[in-house]
Amino acid sequence: MERFPHVPREAVLKEDLLRTGMAFDDSALSDNLDGEVKPKSYFIFSFDQKPLAELGEAARRRPPEELALTGGAYGLRRTIVSVRVNPSSPYRVARGEDGALGLSLDGRSIADVGLPPMPEYYRHALANGKTVMETAPTIQWGYLIYLTVLRLCQYFGAKEECGFCDINHNWRQHKREGRPYTGVKPVADVLEALDLIDRFDTEGTSKAYTLTGGSVTSTVDGLQEADFYGRYAQAIEERFPGRWIGKVVAQALPRAEVQRYKDYGITIYHPNYEVWDKRLFELISPGKQRYVGREEWHRRILDAAEVFGPRFVIPNFVAGVEMAKPFGFATIDEAIASTTEGLDHFMSHGVTPRFTTWCPEPTTPLGRDNPDGAPLEYHIRLLEAYREALRRHGLRPPPGYGVAGAGNAVFSVSSFMDTLDSDEVTVEEAVPR
Ligand code: SF4
Repeated sequence: MERFPHVPREAVLKEDLLRTGMAFDDSALSDNLDGEVKPKSYFIFSFDQKPLAELGEAARRRPPEELALTGGAYGLRRTIVSVRVNPSSPYRVARGEDGALGLSLDGRSIADVGLPPMPEYYRHALANGKTVMETAPTIQWGYLIYLTVLRLCQYFGAKEECGFCDINHNWRQHKREGRPYTGVKPVADVLEALDLIDRFDTEGTSKAYTLTGGSVTSTVDGLQEADFYGRYAQAIEERFPGRWIGKVVAQALPRAEVQRYKDYGITIYHPNYEVWDKRLFELISPGKQRYVGREEWHRRILDAAEVFGPRFVIPNFVAGVEMAKPFGFATIDEAIASTTEGLDHFMSHGVTPRFTTWCPEPTTPLGRDNPDGAPLEYHIRLLEAYREALRRHGLRPPPGYGVAGAGNAVFSVSSFMDTLDSDEVTVEEAVPR
């Protein structure tokens, strides 16, 4: 914080929590769906730094989905952080003698902790008994409905799966523990869960939905990727026209298939490029390299900008993997220079990438070899580099993430929105109807 006074303190702490994870005292866990606290939904990846079987009480009573940090030693403005559990973390969430929840670092109290209240829609089940939490969980303090409609990726095994991704492992571990975890979510279930959200989210907190899951290289339910994910968007837009901003996270598809997403009612397209550097992309995302190829992937991102408009194509990269041993950059300078080159490439075409903070999950090749993730300095310098790149290209924060700025941001898996200047991006602007 002292070395980078221009980066909000909130963002510095949040990055460290995301890369390191947090330990939870039993007193800070939820009562699953029976209590007052919204539990962690495991919405796509595990985002834990130990396997479920090693989480102790936190495997039986889920931790909260997110935390809201305030006040404390650094006078924090409200900071929403996604929960990544790590029993060995120096950060610990526990209840003090006065009963109030707090965050400590090596035993020193550093922030007050607020927990997400159980949303009313989580208290209602679907007619077939499935829960809204499993079918249509919300994250980002209720802003985003996260529809992982395909819980598996068809990039399979070490030669195809992205080196940082535990989607397939997460599916297996939840099945093994006997948790409800649906491989392909029926459209009717998704609509029924959304109906409950629409009915009980009376304050209109939910603003967007994301359709996602694994890559489809052949077919699912007889459908290719654009039609598989697109059919959900079509059904949602028919039933709830314009109620939420529709987003899809999927492969970079050829232009005609991208057009189909648009026609199905999607507003924002995330063809994630994961890591910019050519050598690292080939090593870290071998499935993407094999089925599409890096140059073609990048070309398709720019083609998609002609379909959706450049502001509505927002490819993600996983911040930190470019420093993962044994292949990654040896120095922070090189990693930042490479990533900035990627930002300049896309931003010079009006496309605004965004990033999530790498969580070194232990069952992934990169997490196994790098249990401590990337250095905090890298993450902080990336926040600076990202903000400078946006300014250099005259771009604003990407739409579909709520309001930017420390104290406002709800994007919980990276602090890029906490770092940018407050810039009211309204739903109306994000959905040009
Ligand atoms: S494309 Fe890569 S990151 Fe996405 S689900 Fe498949 S393996 Fe995971």
